[in-house]
Amino acid sequence: MISSMTDNCAANVILINMGSDAYHHHKKTACPNCGYSIDAHAATDGVNDKPKKDDISICAKCATWNKYTEDLEIVTLTEEDKENIAPELLLEMQGISERIKLMNRNMN
Ligand SMILES: [Zn+2]
Repeated sequence: MISSMTDNCAANVILINMGSDAYHHHKKTACPNCGYSIDAHAATDGVNDKPKKDDISICAKCATWNKYTEDLEIVTLTEEDKENIAPELLLEMQGISERIKLMNRNMN
């Protein structure tokens, strides 16, 4: 659903998952905000490509917006990064964050 946008935008939204086999696995890293251990992701457009530098990662635990570095470490998205995100993609990210927060509220 966002695949047409990725041509104009450097970043794909990568939603971190709990490690199901359906998802692409990569080296272990952690959310800089909550410390949640991350070793897999799923792209929201269904294309399970490897994450690359500047791809956006949304933490499945705390819904923080992060991004991948060259070494596939995860760092927090800066204000400057946020300003460079296309408005459509920003909306998509806000929607995903809302769903994560709602899901986590229902589990508690
Ligand atoms: Zn987190």
